[in-house]
Amino acid sequence: MSKGSFQYISTRGQADRVGFDDVLLDGLARDGGLYVPEVWPSWSSETLALWKDLPYAALAARTCAPFMAGSVVADDIAVLAKAAYDTFDDPTIAPLHDLGDGLYLQELFHGPTLAFKDYALQLVGHLFDAVLTARGERITVVGATSGDTGPAGIAACAGCAAIDIFMLHPKDRTSVVQRRQMTTVADSNVFNIAVEGTFDDCQDLVKTLFADLTLRDRVNLSAVNSINWARVLGQIVYYVHAGLQLGAPGRPVSFSVPTGNFGNIFAGYGAAQCGLPVDQLIVGSNANDILTRFFRDNAMEIRGVTPTLSPSMDIQVSSNFERLLFDLLDRDGAAVDEMIRSFRTGGRLLLDRNRWQCATRLFSGASLDDAGTIAVMRDVHEKTGRQIDPHTAVGLAAARACREGGAPVVVLCTAHPAKFPDAVEKATGRRPLLPLHLANLYDREERYVILPNDATALTDYIYANARAAGAAA
Ligand SMILES: *Cc1c(COP(=O)(O)O)cnc(C)c1O
Repeated sequence: MSKGSFQYISTRGQADRVGFDDVLLDGLARDGGLYVPEVWPSWSSETLALWKDLPYAALAARTCAPFMAGSVVADDIAVLAKAAYDTFDDPTIAPLHDLGDGLYLQELFHGPTLAFKDYALQLVGHLFDAVLTARGERITVVGATSGDTGPAGIAACAGCAAIDIFMLHPKDRTSVVQRRQMTTVADSNVFNIAVEGTFDDCQDLVKTLFADLTLRDRVNLSAVNSINWARVLGQIVYYVHAGLQLGAPGRPVSFSVPTGNFGNIFAGYGAAQCGLPVDQLIVGSNANDILTRFFRDNAMEIRGVTPTLSPSMDIQVSSNFERLLFDLLDRDGAAVDEMIRSFRTGGRLLLDRNRWQCATRLFSGASLDDAGTIAVMRDVHEKTGRQIDPHTAVGLAAARACREGGAPVVVLCTAHPAKFPDAVEKATGRRPLLPLHLANLYDREERYVILPNDATALTDYIYANARAAGAAA
């Protein structure tokens, strides 16, 4: 490794230390763990104060630069960040809206697919393309979606010269908005596949593909899934952005985050580790409340998944929680490995009391059922005229339930209300409108193939279309 390059280690402690580019392209570490920084960068108060008035893309470049030291694209980060956020439909990218009483909404739905995932994935797409081009490599991204990650993943990879993306969705089982966000993307490197089966079938097909080592090597199979470190990195930026606007570094700020896989809120933890003064990190859960039960009573117990109005949080095992666990266990990879294994088999995770109390100094959580979610959406609309999506409603309720002390609380709006039109209409009596850049979504031409739930058919389709296959043959 070259001098001054930033290093990452695995939460399971058995994989080699690696630099940013390998973390970006590999996703999961070879020992099954997740990558985390070996040492967090540290921003002084003076540095943070200098960043206060930077435009969003410039702030993203400053925030990401230390994490990317040693990367082949380290010198290009400013240009890549600018390109990533140029397409967003609000000039401030992540505007804050004052709700009064020290509560703020941070709108994270100004990217191409109207969800906060764009904020990281747009940057990750540009980083992937740049690193691959510099290395003279090409990859084939394959993923399965129930409707949530697919649009953001496609928007991130569309048009990238070094990437082809194949996205599987269960035929007729995603919402129409979600399907059209994927199937109306015209770029020739995007392949949408409607599988005659369920989301679980789609996931199993993807697993089968990754187990096919011939295919894997010939087309350079890759993923843009939520455990990729670069996605966490791209999310740290809006915590810093909001914090600086509300008085940091001179004054601490709290955040309330509608949480599923724990990736978003872990980025808030990362910002705090680097020096942003963060008072509280509040987890909002729907009826799938395993995380809020953990922060309330130190009992992490798996139950079944319940479908709710906030489907992006219908999750039982939050993969990114492992990154926090690593720190709570004093960065002992063997201990993490053992605890995760017994959690997967026994369905229960218990921390010793001191460690748990350490976590609850920063983290707390509250859950909200569907009836409560509708009530919050209705109340906000009646009082302010504003429509919020069901995930945001959960975050707002958690902020109110958990806030302590005087720090302002920023509620992250993780999706645009028009992404969940039925729930929003039910709560407010009005169907939310899509923003202008998507206003003609329902008129655009769709492009996808329908394939049976069959790995051979899928493999053949990928060989026939992936450019990486042609290059290797
Ligand atoms: C993905 C998603 C979430 C959950 O985020 P995590 O990083 O998985 O905790 C919450 N809300 C919306 C709208 C999402 O798309």
